[in-house]
Amino acid sequence: MGEQIAEAESGGADWLHVDVMDGSFVPNISFGQDMVAAARRSTHLPLDVHLMIVEPLRHLESFARAGATRISLHVEAVDSLSLAIQAVRKSGCQCGVAINPGTPVEALGKASDDLDYVLVMTVNPGFGGQEFMPETLPKVRHLREKIAGSGDDVSIGVDGGMNADTAPVAVAAGADLIVAGSSVFRDDQPVAVGIDQLRRAIVLEAGRDA
Ligand code: ZN
Repeated sequence: MGEQIAEAESGGADWLHVDVMDGSFVPNISFGQDMVAAARRSTHLPLDVHLMIVEPLRHLESFARAGATRISLHVEAVDSLSLAIQAVRKSGCQCGVAINPGTPVEALGKASDDLDYVLVMTVNPGFGGQEFMPETLPKVRHLREKIAGSGDDVSIGVDGGMNADTAPVAVAAGADLIVAGSSVFRDDQPVAVGIDQLRRAIVLEAGRDA
């Protein structure tokens, strides 16, 4: 893992996004606090910890202690979003909220004004290597309009199925953070090549729009 992280850092990644899965909120089990701490020791990149777990509030402090720079929890996993946001802030981390493909933007309510970022799931979370769901794009557009209207500085991330074909489409819809897994961490090419392909595709698409 340390080698791959080092490759991502030297290849120009802005952040390291860590998917934490508990086998309950999502079917798979992945990283816990110890792996986040190991990642923290391996890189200077900020750590973006995406909690795909039930009862995320119970674990905020331990992920913050493990070295998370910012934490996103799922709107579907908490009773009160505003209390959850307060709890993330109290842990000292920046705060994001993730929304599943089946959850409407309205579920965020006014909370989106208080966030550092919204993470729009562009696949159903739980497994790597899934195909991007284009039906999630209207949500990105809707959020971008809502944020522009409010004047707040909230980023929009997209997570799932991002590659050189899909990332430009998501950026055109209003996303400004791209989470990439399988398209970057591959057996057949270095991480830096995957990151470069993503960036080039996005710049090319932006040029076409202009
Ligand atoms: Zn994620």
